[in-house]
Parts: sequence; C-alpha cells; structure tokens
Amino acid sequence: MSKALVLAESRDGNLRNVSFEAIAAANLVADEVVVALIGQNVAADASQLAARGAHQVLVVEDERLQHYTPDGYGQVFMQLIERVAPDVIVFGHTSLGKDLSPKIAAKLQAGLISDVTSIEGTGTEASFIRPIYSGKAFEKVKVSEGKILFTVRPNNIEPLAEGASEGTVESVTVELKDLRTIVSEVVRKATGGVDLSEAKVIVAGGRGVKSADGFAPLQELADLLGGAVGASRGACDADYCDYALQIGQTGKVVTPDLYIACGISGAIQHLAGMSNAKVIVAINKDPEANIFSVADYGIVGDLFDVVPLLTAEFKKMLV
Ligand code: FAD
Repeated sequence: MSKALVLAESRDGNLRNVSFEAIAAANLVADEVVVALIGQNVAADASQLAARGAHQVLVVEDERLQHYTPDGYGQVFMQLIERVAPDVIVFGHTSLGKDLSPKIAAKLQAGLISDVTSIEGTGTEASFIRPIYSGKAFEKVKVSEGKILFTVRPNNIEPLAEGASEGTVESVTVELKDLRTIVSEVVRKATGGVDLSEAKVIVAGGRGVKSADGFAPLQELADLLGGAVGASRGACDADYCDYALQIGQTGKVVTPDLYIACGISGAIQHLAGMSNAKVIVAINKDPEANIFSVADYGIVGDLFDVVPLLTAEFKKMLV
C-alpha cells in the first residue's frame, strides 16, 4: 500500500486552495494520503483537510513556525518524512513549495517533478504532465524508481469535495534546533484582496494602461467579478504598479478561468505566465497585437472605453 505526504499551506489563518488540489493529486498516485499542517494556531483548519481527501492530518504547531523559513519547515518536514515513510511527496507550486521542495528532494537524493498541471493514470502507472519552453509544449514524466516528489500548479487539479474522506487529526511534537532564521514580522505591500496565483478571474493591465491611476477601471472590474488585478512587466517597469502583480516568465504563472488582458502586447515572456488561462479576453488598440494570437475573444479598441463598458454590462448581470 503506497503512502503520500502532502504539505498543506495556510496563510493569514486561511488554508490555501492549492492544499486541496495537492491532496487530490496525491490521491491519484497513492493509496493513503497523510497531510502535514505546519504553523502556529493552524490546528482549527485540520478538519477541513481531513474531510477533503486526507486520511490523516499531522499538525505541527510552534510559534517559531508562524512564518515559513526553509530552515524551520525543512526540519519539521524531514522529521515527518521519517515518521510517515511516504512513497510520494506533494507540494503546491507556490513560493513556499518552490523553495522547500528542491531542498527536500536534495536531502532525500530524489528527483523532483515541478509544476505539474495534470496526472494521467494512477498509482505507479501515473504520468505527470508539466509545461516546458515557457508553456509552448508539455512533457509527460514517469518515475521509474524511488520516491516520487512533485509540485502542483495552482488552479489545475480539481480538489475533492467535502466528505471525500473522514481522516484523523493528530498533533505532533517535533524537535527544532539551531534555527538560523526566525521571521519576526511580515510587512506586506497592499496589493488588494484576492491572491493573484489562486484568482479565478484576473484583469491584467500593460503599458497601455499608461499610469498608476489608469489601473482604477481594471480594479473596479476585477472587484465586481471577485477577481484580482495583474500586470505585464511593461506596466511594472513603468512604475504603474508593484512587481508583486507581474505575470509571466519572470513573474507569477496563473491559470484563472477568465483572464482579461488590457493594453498588453502579448510578448512571449508574458504569454508564458497566462496562456493556459481557460478563457482569454484581449483588449488592445492594435489589431496586429500578438496577444490576439492566444485570445478566445479579442476586442480591438481603447481600453479606457471598453473596460467601463464591460463593467457596466457585468453590473447589470450581477448586481
Ligand atoms: P508593450 O509591449 O509596450 O505593449 C503595450 C500595448 O498596449 C500595445 O500592444 C498597445 O497597442 C496597447 N495599447 C496602448 N494604449 C492602449 C489603449 N488605450 N487601449 C488598448 N490598448 C492600448 N514581460 C511580462 O509581462 N512578464 C514577464 O514575466 C516578463 N519577463 C521577461 C523576462 C525577460 C528575460 C525579458 C527579456 C523580458 C521579459 N518581459 C516580461 C518583458 C516582455 O518582453 C515585454 O517587454 C512586456 O511584456 C511588454 O509589456 P506590455 O505588453 O505591457 O507593453
């Protein structure tokens, strides 16, 4: 019977959706799924994990683990690996997962399949699909021997419904020694409510937005649709918005249900971060803009005319 260990992520007291997606992925590959929930005051979230595909949730709480550090989480996770002896280890393809997973893989002398978007087959026959060449192609990876470690891209694997499992919850004490880093405080820049990497709707602006104030109509549309605002590097470089909003090869990779690109030309580096969105709407003055080559719906026009019109129409439908 094969076992998986999944690292769940909680931020600001909320479980990140990618935790449930990672559990669903683990269930495809292993017979038994154990979930690690690490942090401070996180135990209350364990029951949600236990109901959505986890057979067991191991909760590790310590005030030194309130914020992620590779040192602290690495020590805890390695001790949980010793305890669980998993055949499969799953992380979200998030900042945390991207940082911790290669360290764990190196410690275990195992390979790592990063940024998995889907899984074909089950158990030892499972093949992992991941984008390569900035999303221009996909490769299928199969592990022939040893532990299977992989990270799952947010918003790609369907989480299991509530009631999918009736897992147990156990509080675990681990030894933390010689921590070299302790984060005492995190000061976040205000970038709006919805987390960009998990947003179902993204309204993104490029250099065509022309100023920081030019993002206001995009924010209004995003708020109306319960989504987040994103940006091209062009807009970030021009100081219209924070780099935390950048989408693309050197920014965030997103897979929302709806991506509305406003005044973005569609450079290959931008497409690398958003071309797998389920539906892409592009608004651009230039009918030759490359963004139209990936768009499902293209609107040739001035974004300052089109975005308010879209907002007004959505308001009629939603409000
Ligand atoms: P532009 O290319 O200047 O396009 C602006 C668009 O707005 C034009 O198509 C114009 O027709 C349109 N427009 C202007 N006014 C209006 C209006 N009123 N209404 C409607 N449309 C209008 N870029 C990223 O985005 N993400 C990355 O992660 C990234 N990584 C990079 C990594 C490397 C190594 C390199 C070399 C580049 C990277 N870039 C990245 C930069 C990328 O090559 C482009 O320069 C950038 O994406 C261009 O941003 P833009 O589309 O906003 O600007």
